Amino acid sequence: MVHLPKPTCHEAASVTAKTVPVDPFDLVIFGGTGDLALRKLLPGLLRRYADGQIPESARIIGVARDTQTDAEYREKVEEALTRAIGDDAALGARVPAFLAKLIYRSLDATKDEGWDEFGALLKEYQDHIRVFYLSTSPSLFVDFCTRLRDQGLHEGAARVVLEKPIGKDSASAAAINDAVGAVFAEHQIFRIDHYLGKETVQNLLALRFANILFEPLWNANRIDHVQITVAETVGLEKRAGYYDTSGALRDMVQNHLLQLLCMVAMEPPAAMQADAVRDEKLKVLRSLKPITREEINQVTVRGQYRAGASGGVAVPGYLDELGRNDSRTETYVAIKAEVDNWRWAGVPFYLRTGKRLAERVSEIVVSFRHVPHMIFDESAGPALPNKLVLRLQPDEGVKLWLMIKDPGPGGLRLQHVPLDMSFAEAFGVRQPEAYERLLMDVVRGNPTLFMRRDEVEAAWAWIDPILAAWDELREAPKSYTSGSWGPSAAVALVERSGRTWNEDSN
Ligand code: NAP
Repeated sequence: MVHLPKPTCHEAASVTAKTVPVDPFDLVIFGGTGDLALRKLLPGLLRRYADGQIPESARIIGVARDTQTDAEYREKVEEALTRAIGDDAALGARVPAFLAKLIYRSLDATKDEGWDEFGALLKEYQDHIRVFYLSTSPSLFVDFCTRLRDQGLHEGAARVVLEKPIGKDSASAAAINDAVGAVFAEHQIFRIDHYLGKETVQNLLALRFANILFEPLWNANRIDHVQITVAETVGLEKRAGYYDTSGALRDMVQNHLLQLLCMVAMEPPAAMQADAVRDEKLKVLRSLKPITREEINQVTVRGQYRAGASGGVAVPGYLDELGRNDSRTETYVAIKAEVDNWRWAGVPFYLRTGKRLAERVSEIVVSFRHVPHMIFDESAGPALPNKLVLRLQPDEGVKLWLMIKDPGPGGLRLQHVPLDMSFAEAFGVRQPEAYERLLMDVVRGNPTLFMRRDEVEAAWAWIDPILAAWDELREAPKSYTSGSWGPSAAVALVERSGRTWNEDSN
């Protein structure tokens, strides 16, 4: 464990390292009664408020079709906040003042009623930054944007936040982007991928570009391969309708896993500025080697979970949860991807994600090459390759695996040990949730950690042929037991080249 001097600015466990207040704003959550708003956005805003980052004049306006008063909405939000913050008394004490900022308006994106009054409500504070968070089905994005334009709310310091999924292929993504782009300029559009708001992901940038140590090694000469894993233990939850038309490739790989791959593979941007960073990510996406129909079964694996156990509890299979037996939707995918450029030539990027897997873990593993020559004799044991493991969840942190001498007298034996930096323990402060950071970035108008239109389109351009090849083959996904690490074919995918999935996580 690395020990760091504790910052002096924290007073309670809930306080994050440092906060800079943002300018006064009105944040409208379209879909303000939905799961995302209640479970992530509003608890995140509460924490930012409790840390003193949200000014007293800020307003948070929940919108949905359901008819309810401000008081009823606040009651519903209070229940959700209580669930989210657990026994954090310091945070609990700030809930009443936070709830007082909440306003509720009943509006239907598809109907005219109420929009004039809504426009008037927002125009009460002309100097406020306006953030419109579209936390609803993308099928409503056009309606919301059109109505905002009709009310003249799209101009000036106004921003719109788009949740995933942005389309289900290139064509539908372009249609959404065109429709939103007809109302908002690109610099006003914040396409959120909450993985980019995670501390570890930003730390990857710090490790790569604020240290001299890694960059000279960060290429095909020294790196053997990269693994990116996003494993969930949950099944369908309440998302059956959406998920069965999407699947793991669209739901996770097109956005989260490819964004993480970009962060690992991109060239150093000239500056930590939004377009400089996004230009470099775009180049990576455009360098992804297309996967052809001929090689699809060598480099991709699709799986679907069957009944098994999760956390010691018996759970049904995907088809039983769905209530249908004819779905071919993949709940697991593994891909051997390649970035066809000078830096990464020949280095496989193994991507995998799935539901009902053995553990909930998201991590990036950068595996370095073996030492070129072994000077120690056999009694020392093997020299295992160095590994940099960036853990996004749970327990955000970084481990650098090194070979050291086994301590003590006697012969020289080698040991593979991690230099372990668990952020929460090392810094003694709570790590902010991704949405907290990203919501404040939207208010500040900083799009560095959001996806630009061309990035989304480049990601789809790589995904589309995979989907088309799968469609053409019409093969059933490979079955895997709930609570396992996925289909055995995914193990073979990596082992064919003499490598293994990172053993810390399976
Ligand atoms: P949800 O629980 O189904 O909530 C949808 C919200 O939209 C509700 O507040 C609903 O309230 C409102 N709504 C539906 N139709 C409306 C209309 N015509 N006019 C105005 N409001 C309307 O969905 P969610 O899970 O919060 O997800 C929202 C979006 O975020 C989805 O696109 C989802 O894919 C994405 N997302 C969600 C998560 C997550 O963790 N939940 C994570 C990533 C992305 P009424 O029915 O009362 O109108």
